[in-house]
Amino acid sequence: MKPTILRPVFCEAHSLFTSYPRLPLPPALRLLYNKDEQERTDDDPSLHEGRVRSFPHERGNWVTFVYIPCDPLPLLHTLLEVFCNLLESIAVLKPVSDLHISLTQTVVLRHHWIDPFVDSVSEKVKELPRFRITFDSVNVYCNEAKTRTFIGLTVSSGADALMSAIRVLDECLSEFKLPAFYEDPSFHLSIGWCLGDLTEPISTLVPQLDVVFQQFRQAQPDKWHIDVEKIMCKTGNKYFTFQLQS
Ligand code: AMP
Repeated sequence: MKPTILRPVFCEAHSLFTSYPRLPLPPALRLLYNKDEQERTDDDPSLHEGRVRSFPHERGNWVTFVYIPCDPLPLLHTLLEVFCNLLESIAVLKPVSDLHISLTQTVVLRHHWIDPFVDSVSEKVKELPRFRITFDSVNVYCNEAKTRTFIGLTVSSGADALMSAIRVLDECLSEFKLPAFYEDPSFHLSIGWCLGDLTEPISTLVPQLDVVFQQFRQAQPDKWHIDVEKIMCKTGNKYFTFQLQS
């Protein structure tokens, strides 16, 4: 169709709409169609220690991950102080406040998927038995966006049970076409973090960090484990808990 034919029709319809005073849209509809309010990608890193959101904050999208929550190990604070001193010339290391072992990557769920996703996780995870995890070395990790570097304690025993958890969670993720966990998972408890990708300079000091950690382990061999009784899912600001079999 030629635009010359279409234009008068459009103008007519447009003038029909504009000749009447517009009623305000109900707030719920305004939110649905107002892109500024719907897709707020603005982020102020100064409000959260310089961290940049890896996923834009978007209405209807819920940033989600499944993890094992961890209480602070008794000597963690002291260990981290020593690590901070050793890394002083390279990085400003901060403690990780929400200690956890990740069992999925951070994924984005649409709001209407939350309940079915949580049901699916609950159904599959309830078959898993409780288990113990121990840590035996230090490693350095970087997030996908290369905006944060983490110092982690890597899991030695308990990795098999973690792999079983990953397998069932990967099944849940695939039901929702979400990405599986890392092909080559390195299970760890991040204890400190810093801004940017500092994997390279920190890696050169990992052997020294590891020597310190081994000294801590020798001094208190029974302190470096976690008894895993539950798994959690955080989606947006909601938390779901799944108890493992006793
Ligand atoms: P987390 O403490 O579990 O949040 O992990 C810290 C970062 O390690 C995450 O941002 C992951 O992307 C990153 N990471 C990099 N490589 C791996 C891996 N092979 N296994 C697990 N996490 C990894």
